Amino acid sequence: MKEYPHLSVVLDEVSAREGHAEGQAPWWTYCAEVLDHVRVPYDVVPAIGDLGLDGPGVLLFPEAPSLPDDQAAAVRAWVEGGGALLCTGAGSLGAAFGVAEVDPVADGYVLIDGADGWLDGVDVPLRAQGGNKLAVGTDAVVLASWAHDKTPAIVLVHLGLGVAIFSGVDIWQSIVRIQQGDPVYTDGVPAADGSAAVDDGSLKCDDGIVLSYETDREVPPQSAVRRAEGRAGLDPVPIFHRPHADLWRGAFLQLLLGAARHCGVVLPWLYYWPAGVPAVAHLSVDSDRNSIEDAATSLDLFDEIGVRTTWCHVYPGGYDTATVERIGAAGHEHALHFNAVGDADIASWGWAQLRAQHAWAQAMTGHEEIVSNKNHYTRWEGWDEFYRWCVRLGIEIDETRGPSKRGNVGFPFGTAHLAKPMSGTRRLDVLMLPMHAQDLAWTTHESVRNVILDQVVAQHGVAHFLFHPVHLHRRSFVRDACRDVVAEATRRGLPWWTAAQLNAWERLRRNVVLDVRHEAGGGLAISAHAPNAIPGAAIMLPLPDPSAQVETAWSDSGSPVRPAVVERHGMTMLELATDLAEGTTTLHVTWAAVAAAPDGELVR
Ligand SMILES: [Zn+2]
Repeated sequence: MKEYPHLSVVLDEVSAREGHAEGQAPWWTYCAEVLDHVRVPYDVVPAIGDLGLDGPGVLLFPEAPSLPDDQAAAVRAWVEGGGALLCTGAGSLGAAFGVAEVDPVADGYVLIDGADGWLDGVDVPLRAQGGNKLAVGTDAVVLASWAHDKTPAIVLVHLGLGVAIFSGVDIWQSIVRIQQGDPVYTDGVPAADGSAAVDDGSLKCDDGIVLSYETDREVPPQSAVRRAEGRAGLDPVPIFHRPHADLWRGAFLQLLLGAARHCGVVLPWLYYWPAGVPAVAHLSVDSDRNSIEDAATSLDLFDEIGVRTTWCHVYPGGYDTATVERIGAAGHEHALHFNAVGDADIASWGWAQLRAQHAWAQAMTGHEEIVSNKNHYTRWEGWDEFYRWCVRLGIEIDETRGPSKRGNVGFPFGTAHLAKPMSGTRRLDVLMLPMHAQDLAWTTHESVRNVILDQVVAQHGVAHFLFHPVHLHRRSFVRDACRDVVAEATRRGLPWWTAAQLNAWERLRRNVVLDVRHEAGGGLAISAHAPNAIPGAAIMLPLPDPSAQVETAWSDSGSPVRPAVVERHGMTMLELATDLAEGTTTLHVTWAAVAAAPDGELVR
């Protein structure tokens, strides 16, 4: 194995491109996006033959390889000697571990009860897209099973000093298809209970929802909110109450970090947010109607509650100069609200229309830097076409993907995380910021609020609430609902960030590369290579054992290092909070309760 990093991913990009040319979707290439977001260090190799397999480490096959017998035997011997293997699918490699694929599952549900200690239990059947039932020997540990017939879906095999994990679930396809939905060419099928009539003759991203209205929703628990007045008839309806794509990300991370720890490999990762922040909240505003009275009421409210928003400007019209200036002066972000609903000239779906409206927003606001967008009425067509336009135009973050109907609120695209969309065999350089609810107390019952916040905190993502100034202006109870969601998120420790802030932070952290090695006396040295300084960063390390305590933690840059023990993704982690300088910052940790490794030995 190479010295650094300690995670090797076997990902044959050439055969992915060839397969794509023949019509196969190379879902497995998306594992790089999942790893890049977590910011765990890894190395990509095109073939197992390129690895030495000469020491402990973690080996990830995002797609089951077809290996000749001698190579499969070499991998087995390496695991036996203390290696950790993770494989999506089983293929011919599975045979070396007594694991076989039996029947394919195109669309199914997976049960994770958490009894084995490797995965946390999940309280709903997890939606899976693609995969296989697995057949295993009696000594395998079944970590997850297919819901319809209880056959193994994810299994673990202990072998000698090492461990091998096989996922019959196509985790990558599941994440991508739930997040990005199906391509939108026609109206979607509405919910049978009438709560989500997406068949409204207007193409939107929620026409392509992969999650099921019948099996993936639940009515939220009754809200503690009691208002003297409210909207008549606005009763709770079922919502997508669990972020299925994020639950798959979390399960994968638990398997990856668990396997690494089992084999004595330390895998650090750079936490999603500044140190100590459990999750983030985002409030966006759509300027529909462009009324300066609506805007004034909303600006007064945002001043009062101290929140900065992303203000999405819809064509045509715009605000007067004074309103635009007040929005900017209060720290709100000027963004585009691309209009393709056909109610004005150039308000139709197309690259030229998007480009023209972006230029209009720049001219109307006097701001060149329009980096964020949300589509009016969540309009959408096709699959990745709009994201390709964003890249061409310089829109760096799009926050369209979310509910347009009362019954598809919550996590209709299964996520609270920032992610880059898949396109062919690659990712596009635009961030998807999911949206979770519109106009609490007006179009969405407030009982959804805490469900969304709780799940976002559990996944350490970003909770996105959208309000329209027109509803804030007309109804005091909508203003109260806005006050309350801001207070409730703040009470849980979530700061409110604009889309531009989210975009800048995510792009900053995605440039950081970590590595780790043992030091004399049993300590660790974790180096962060950052092209730009990042204040308040948090480097996470799974604790080597539950009793481990930090004796000293310091940085060679002289910045203070604040160690803390935190729960992240259901695992106990050591958080090392510090300012990362431009260039390389190395943090040093010594343990009070862990046996020392020999001097200078690498952590692998
Ligand atoms: Zn709108």
